[in-house]
Amino acid sequence: MACFPDFVGSDALRERIGDAVRRNRLSHAYLIEGPEGSGKRTFARMIAAAVSCERRADEGANLPCGECLNCKKILSEKSTDVHYLDRGDRATVSVEAVRDIRREMSLSPTELDTRFFILDDADVMTPAAQNALLISLEEPPAGVLILLLAESADGLLPTVRSRVQTLRLEPVPTADVKQYLLRVSPEARKLNGEGGGKLDAVISASHGRIGVALAFLTPKREAALLKTRETVAAVIRAAVGGASYQEICRAVFALPAKRQELSAHLTTLIEAARDLIVLKRSPDAPLLFYVDRDEAAKLAEKADYLKLIAIYDALRDASDAVGGNGNVGTVLTSLSVSFKGRK
Ligand SMILES: [Zn+2]
Repeated sequence: MACFPDFVGSDALRERIGDAVRRNRLSHAYLIEGPEGSGKRTFARMIAAAVSCERRADEGANLPCGECLNCKKILSEKSTDVHYLDRGDRATVSVEAVRDIRREMSLSPTELDTRFFILDDADVMTPAAQNALLISLEEPPAGVLILLLAESADGLLPTVRSRVQTLRLEPVPTADVKQYLLRVSPEARKLNGEGGGKLDAVISASHGRIGVALAFLTPKREAALLKTRETVAAVIRAAVGGASYQEICRAVFALPAKRQELSAHLTTLIEAARDLIVLKRSPDAPLLFYVDRDEAAKLAEKADYLKLIAIYDALRDASDAVGGNGNVGTVLTSLSVSFKGRK
């Protein structure tokens, strides 16, 4: 028997919730917390399926079994007793939307024993919406399980947070992401066949979030991602040492001029610089950007610790300036000068 066998990662959490489902000890409301693409909605669906699984009482069965009628309906989002709410294309979740859901909570289930309310983007509920929900969290109607999904609990009122149990999804280890992608995605298998570390680069950029990795796996997005990585790697190579000012400028001014794209590149550059810094301290440290550890170690050797810190700080300053509407040309020039100025 396995708990949530089709969910990759967060092993301890899966065990804990699986056990609570079997013993009928689930809380009436949970907050599933994790960054975009980390599997919050998938996990919420699986909790609903586990609770409603027709094989729930079978000791040897996987939970959810994924094969009974209830599991199939819930996992394909076709059950009329599993309700979803998200912000859609709005910036926030409104109080009206929450009131509608609250009314819905007072009705009886039609096909399952429990009704589930999966409220995505809970951290962008307006304070009024959160207060409207509070009543349901304090006095939950019988047979209702509320699952709030949020990138961070910080956006929730303390009163809401105190009434839900928080389940934090962990980043999935790289090897497990790879194994999963190779199993489910023909595009991943194709990319892996092409070699050159292309699939590893996609996985590295997903930072342990399977949803993000899957979203990267289209030829267009792969090409863009690999190009970004090349541009970033070239800037770091120029910054760490041995490059003339002209070469530094060439690498830095190859960064995109559009603010949003530049900002994303700078985030990746900061991760790459951070990799070199941590490698100085511990050669086995987990890396955020570099897939080839030897390549990263060689780069780290080219500069001393203080220089790497200076590169990191210059990138942070550039990122802040771009975020704060600084002139892009000026930012890139200052960045080039900082890279040149330090030996
Ligand atoms: Zn089942």
